[in-house]
Amino acid sequence: MSDNYDVIVLGAGPAGYVAAIRCAQLGLKTACVEKWINKQGQPALGGTCLNVGCIPSKALLESSHIYENTAHGLSAHGISVNDVKADIPAMIAGKDKTVQELTGGIEHLFKANGVDWIKGSGTLLPERQIQVTGSESEKTIYKAENIVLATGSNSIEIGSVPLQGEVIVDSSGALDWESVPKKLCVIGAGVIGLELGSVWRRLGAEVVILEAQDVFLPVVDQQIAKDALRQFNRQGLDIKLGARVLASEVTADGVTLTYTDQAGEQQLQVDRVIVAVGRRPNIDQLTSPETDLLIDERGLVHVNAVCETNLPGVWAIGDLVRGPMLAHKGSEEGVAVAERIAGKQCHLNYYAIPSVIYTLPEVSWVGKTEEQLKEEGIEYKSGVFPFAASGRAKAMRDTAGMVKILADKNTDQVLGMHIIGPHSSELIGHGVMAIEFEGTIEDIARTVFAHPTLSEAIHEAALAADGRALHIPNRKR
Ligand code: FAD
Ligand code: AMP
Repeated sequence: MSDNYDVIVLGAGPAGYVAAIRCAQLGLKTACVEKWINKQGQPALGGTCLNVGCIPSKALLESSHIYENTAHGLSAHGISVNDVKADIPAMIAGKDKTVQELTGGIEHLFKANGVDWIKGSGTLLPERQIQVTGSESEKTIYKAENIVLATGSNSIEIGSVPLQGEVIVDSSGALDWESVPKKLCVIGAGVIGLELGSVWRRLGAEVVILEAQDVFLPVVDQQIAKDALRQFNRQGLDIKLGARVLASEVTADGVTLTYTDQAGEQQLQVDRVIVAVGRRPNIDQLTSPETDLLIDERGLVHVNAVCETNLPGVWAIGDLVRGPMLAHKGSEEGVAVAERIAGKQCHLNYYAIPSVIYTLPEVSWVGKTEEQLKEEGIEYKSGVFPFAASGRAKAMRDTAGMVKILADKNTDQVLGMHIIGPHSSELIGHGVMAIEFEGTIEDIARTVFAHPTLSEAIHEAALAADGRALHIPNRKR
């Protein structure tokens, strides 16, 4: 038996490391157990998000966008550049440097806040004990008043397309290719598949995305999703819906995939494949056999509204529990749990969590979609403003997309905001605040937005909801 702690957090992704820092800030003696070994062979903090998720994918999305825009997008601004080249190994090295700086930053924050990093793999035992297995297989048991489980998620693998070297990879493998495949298949048109497909298309790959479902982005407001599909197709992403992959064969020439669609069985020959069919909670070796932690049929650790598990003093947060698998959702759960452990009040509004697909155009949303409002029988009004009518978007020569606001018809309260277009990941913060503050269409209509900015489109969409937009003709009501 080693040290006793007030709190031990298992996993140092954005859920766990934030929980640990907040616990330490609140005066609790805190340790965080983390087993990650990075591609340089070193122990690292930050979890999926910093090592193989949010950050490296955004680094490559940014680099590949700059390349594509420099090569093909500058003529509208009267700029010509000859002989633009992408140095892929340098791009990957730049991404790795960003990752190392950020994961090193978490280590620094742990030290500054007095969080002990216990390196190794942790398993929950009864009576709030954690057994940690270190790099030499040595085992140490720690005890704490409170345990926070934050072991995150892993990519789902499909038996029909087993991963193979650099030829068939998951999302992590697709962040490390040092050459551009000539023809690439992405399996799964979810957020991760669309982002990684976009990276490699921009760098020169011919990209086919096979998606089993008939509906494109079913969780997104369908007016926005339809616009996104049109724009992605125009960019050259060949997205085949209703296409379920059944088998794969690696040959000397690449990979032959067999899939079914409405027309029957099809074959597709590609050089490389990314399997991006979703993620599953990481519960492998999470508990010893005698620990009675409740796990549901989807493999999620069961928690109540405030992230308590069925075991007293054991909490669970992040991708390991219900709700969207998003870094900011996990981090806010981490803060809320830390504050609750410290005896404070806390609040997390699951209804006001934004989602973003970092493609171009970016697709961002918060709150209810029009389909959800119809299904729930809520009387609503809708205001739409296209970026084609925005002075700032025109000046940027980036006019694709729109802002859509949905509000309760009777109370005027904003219920959803959906944006496809330039910098929508930043703009959606206005929608999050409106929903968090229980704002109304009238509140947004009376707010002054700087001119010329993209955010004026939010103002105009709010005006449009009441048939009083100034820069587009209003619908007859
Ligand atoms: P994780 O980040 O998965 O961290 C869990 C940690 O626990 C890991 O470090 C793991 O090593 C450790 N661990 C597991 N088991 C044990 C154990 N037994 N002992 C010790 N340690 C253990 N989300 C966004 O919000 N925005 C994005 O742009 C975004 N982009 C993404 C892009 C990609 C390619 C991927 C794969 C994901 C992306 N996500 C994004 C999702 C985001 O990464 C996750 O939602 C987030 O990382 C979940 O945080 P977490 O702390 O719950 O788990
Ligand atoms: P997400 O869960 O958002 O990451 O998206 C993963 C996507 O992969 C979902 O839209 C699934 O429908 C899709 N998918 C899962 N299995 C297959 C398969 N065998 N072939 C094609 N698409 C798949």
